[in-house]
Amino acid sequence: MSKSNPILAGSAQSIEAYQQAIAQSSEAVAQWLQQPEMYQGKTVAELRERIQLDFNPQGLGNQAAIERAVEYFLQDSLAVHHPQCVAHLHCPSLVVSQAAEVLINATNQSMDSWDQSPSATIIEMKLVEWLRERVGYQPGDAGVFTSGGTQSNLMGLMLARDAFFARQGHSVQQDGLIGDLRKIKVFCSANAHFSVQKNMALLGFGYQCVTQVKTDERARMDLNDLAEKVAQAHANGEQIMAIVATAGTTDAGAIDPLRDIAQIAAQHQIWLHVDAAWGGALLLSEQYRHYLDGIELVDSITLDFHKQFFQTISCGAFLLKEARHYELMRYQAAYLNSEFDEAQGVPNLVSKSLQTTRRFDALKLWMGLEALGQQQYAEIIDHGITLSQQVAEYVNAQPTLELVMQPQLASVLFRSRPAQLADDAAVALLNQRIGDNLLESGQANVGVTEFNGVTCLKLTLLNPTVTLDDVKRLLDLVDSAAQGLANA
Ligand SMILES: *Cc1c(COP(=O)(O)O)cnc(C)c1O
Repeated sequence: MSKSNPILAGSAQSIEAYQQAIAQSSEAVAQWLQQPEMYQGKTVAELRERIQLDFNPQGLGNQAAIERAVEYFLQDSLAVHHPQCVAHLHCPSLVVSQAAEVLINATNQSMDSWDQSPSATIIEMKLVEWLRERVGYQPGDAGVFTSGGTQSNLMGLMLARDAFFARQGHSVQQDGLIGDLRKIKVFCSANAHFSVQKNMALLGFGYQCVTQVKTDERARMDLNDLAEKVAQAHANGEQIMAIVATAGTTDAGAIDPLRDIAQIAAQHQIWLHVDAAWGGALLLSEQYRHYLDGIELVDSITLDFHKQFFQTISCGAFLLKEARHYELMRYQAAYLNSEFDEAQGVPNLVSKSLQTTRRFDALKLWMGLEALGQQQYAEIIDHGITLSQQVAEYVNAQPTLELVMQPQLASVLFRSRPAQLADDAAVALLNQRIGDNLLESGQANVGVTEFNGVTCLKLTLLNPTVTLDDVKRLLDLVDSAAQGLANA
């Protein structure tokens, strides 16, 4: 080989190349973090034009490849840590999460079998036990880390489906779907995450099987409507395969009444899954843990650590109340999870996951808990919720702004409402354009969404370093953008 060996390994030459590449990358990140702009403001067309894949057949070497990544990727990245970057449930990350990524990536363990990730498998299993304890589940290790909320919701719905058919003596894993599928329904609130629909399509039922339950004035599942729709379904000869409750809806941060829903589900023997992708962070909260009252009663849970647990993407988990339900997705392969190994007590996580090769994302949560301690973790989680309440009060006091919804978690829904605009459609269009205008200017990324038919702006205030003053500055930007657009 004429070039240096490109593989990470134990030779002095490889280690030196590794350290150089990491130092160069980390230096570039340090520079980038100091840029004042949230985004450099390039448009879609500009980026398409700028980014060209003209690979050099001889290769450029590591150093030049990194330089080009800095120029074409890093410089035009969105600064998710910027105080005015608040459009989505997209968190700034913990420093220790970055260190964890170095270890995860360099070791490249794969979580499917113990012989590919010995210590990592045990750490992940113990973390699942720990998370179960926080939930209030029985001791055990039924659960697994996932790529995020969408996959965790898929696991919950898949096991709900298979348990539903198993009660009728049928194995979906063996024999596929049978019967009149149009008579089988899944219930969730109108504010549930769209992955419920997408996952039900994937599971063979189509969007049509999803019945949306009405929500109350705080965007939570309405219990009366749930009870009515359950009765109605039964009167129509339909069966309900699962209810998906949400703990922290993506816009309003609403938490469905878990204990009451669990009671209805138990009464009718319906699988209850809770999508706690966002609200699951309250498991660590000191002030707000009680919002999750009843979560210990549900059959399965989605948690997402790349939301308000401040981990880098990706990092999520799925928890299953009763380990026996994992039997529904059992598939043994001699090369990964053989009966021989299992009889000897060798753990393998492939049996608990939809993925085979899988990253050791659990290390990030483990190191986060070690570095911060439960107390500091609780503080940074609670910060966003408390700040959102203060921001709502401030918005209420501004003549040009209107609060659309009282905050429940760390989000504020509001809209700009300049006095000269009376027409509702014009107000809606204005708010839509404020969002685009701010991102184009590179100054701020504010969410635009619709709530109860009202087009509004959304601040997702996850960032624990953001203060009320930062948000006031952002609201000033919203005001100036609104004035500029209204007068244009
Ligand atoms: C973010 C989110 C999801 C999806 O999670 P991903 O990690 O993006 O797959 C699901 N449900 C809720 C309520 C969410 O906020």
